[in-house]
Amino acid sequence: MNTSYPLLLFIPDFMIYPFIFAGLLLSYGSNAMAFDINPFKEYNGSIELVQTFEQPVLEMMVSSIINPVHEELTVKTLFLVRDSRKPGAESINDELIKTVIRGVRWNDDPLHFLPENPQQWLMNFERASQLANQDQINENFDLFYRSHHADLQFLHAMASTETESAQATRSAILSWIEFTYKVASGYIPIHTPFKKLGNFLTPQSAKFIKKYFTNNGRRLNWTPAYLFSLKCTREIIPPSTVGMLDCTNTSWLPPKQNVQNIALGSLLHVIQDSFSDSHVTRHPDYDGNYSLIHGRSAVQTFNAYQKQSIRLHRGADSYPRDMDQPMKQEGFNVEEVSAEIVSYALVDRKRARYRNRHAIVNAKLKKGLFHLLEPNAEAGSGKYK
Ligand SMILES: [Zn+2]
Repeated sequence: MNTSYPLLLFIPDFMIYPFIFAGLLLSYGSNAMAFDINPFKEYNGSIELVQTFEQPVLEMMVSSIINPVHEELTVKTLFLVRDSRKPGAESINDELIKTVIRGVRWNDDPLHFLPENPQQWLMNFERASQLANQDQINENFDLFYRSHHADLQFLHAMASTETESAQATRSAILSWIEFTYKVASGYIPIHTPFKKLGNFLTPQSAKFIKKYFTNNGRRLNWTPAYLFSLKCTREIIPPSTVGMLDCTNTSWLPPKQNVQNIALGSLLHVIQDSFSDSHVTRHPDYDGNYSLIHGRSAVQTFNAYQKQSIRLHRGADSYPRDMDQPMKQEGFNVEEVSAEIVSYALVDRKRARYRNRHAIVNAKLKKGLFHLLEPNAEAGSGKYK
């Protein structure tokens, strides 16, 4: 997975950062992010997330690591399961909430740069923006580069290219949901090598894993445990030299439940992002560049970042306007749909492996949240041109 460039020079941090950040402020580049995260806060057993890491000011100014929107939507969801005593509610405890939150950050930070290395997160992000503008990111690049700027934008419920059809984007989204659901529920054992995932997935999703993860013999021996506990560092030396990716901090034997919870969080991230108005244009239409998480119905278009204005796109990624409002039409509220999936996954986790209910979840999503009004619609821009 590593694309490495030689380290050409070394300049002490304090000398280079003022210049880099000045540049970043001007050139914050093309990417799929959606709802902000804030990895410097942690869940502490109440609905409030508390500050546990010092929050770097400059990085926050230029990036999406500012408001804990994904985290708060996740807490809302897990509390809904617990407080409405849905099946599986008894599994929800502080430890689960903390690790699902780690998972909901995974899509934005799959190499776990945060919270310890915010400068690396941001500089790699910026470098990825530059490379994406030159169309230079390919499958040899690491997951961080591909998640935000290239072919893995389904991790944020977006199209990866300007011409991708709604059907193709949905198919990738649903395959990611299948994979993460089956890991989260224990159907796929966490130490299963990627080359054997086909034994656990529908043929379509097995193809998806081949296309995006094991193409040309790459990552055949990766496992869900490794994928979801990656912890790497990668220095950037300006002007544009990228250092070696070093993932030696990754734990090879993480606790099973942590891996399952991170997978569940990653699944929730995709559902949550699909409510970002700049990522998915849902029915019915409304005016204004902001997101709503309640009463949002079928998909008109999945949007492509390349077709949008960066500044306008960001407007929809802060707090949804109806964050604290009651839910609306049944089946079309982010926390309601998310809570149902969490409940299924937590119950399945306690059952024997062969009673996995992913097929039911998939059918519900296809008919509901990811119903397509025009399956052949090309990726759009929404109101964010
Ligand atoms: Zn996202």
